Amino acid sequence: MPSSIPVTEVPVFGGGMFPVRRVYCVGRNYLDHIREMGEADERDPPFFFQKPRDAIVHDGARVPYPPFTDDLQFEVELVIAIGSSGKNIPVAEALDHIWGYAVGIDLTRRDRQYESRDRKWPWEMGKSFDASAPCGPIAPARDGRYFKGCAITLLVNGVEKQRGDIGQMIWSVPEIVAQLSQQMTLHPGDLIYTGTPAGVGPVVPGDVIDARIEGLPSLTITITEREA
Ligand code: MN
Repeated sequence: MPSSIPVTEVPVFGGGMFPVRRVYCVGRNYLDHIREMGEADERDPPFFFQKPRDAIVHDGARVPYPPFTDDLQFEVELVIAIGSSGKNIPVAEALDHIWGYAVGIDLTRRDRQYESRDRKWPWEMGKSFDASAPCGPIAPARDGRYFKGCAITLLVNGVEKQRGDIGQMIWSVPEIVAQLSQQMTLHPGDLIYTGTPAGVGPVVPGDVIDARIEGLPSLTITITEREA
């Protein structure tokens, strides 16, 4: 039997490490991205999926181009870090359960995701592969603010590819926490990637991806050659 398995943690801005329990993602949460993906049902509630926690990589990571895809794509997302347990959390109490926020990238094998969608297969191979969850340093929440009305951007090699505003979310940060807590009990260490604005696109080995949200530490990763 293995002697030990690594613990997944994310650095905290200002010092310390945040231990990660589970990684949840919102499937759709910005109208302009739903439209670019050709999804028709714009008023549907968001749906959730998970990535394995060991898919997390940190700011500065070098991420090998993954196997089993020829269409690796970026999605910049606000990440919520949960600090206290709850189920059926009311919207009005949701911010009390949030410990902090980070910038994340929901790396996606877009070809595999479309294949899963079209063939009604599970999403894991498109969304939940090794190193698919880059997460920047977590900034502790202050004064209940949740970055409503802040710019969210992503640049590849210095060229802006995605630009949105946290205020464009269909479901707000408190609403996401409330809804997910009706489906799964939330616990300290849970992360929630909250969906991406329009402009998603492919990357190739050598590309440097910069993900930014106003008021949060930024996240930079480099895509390297596919491993043999
Ligand atoms: Mn996403």
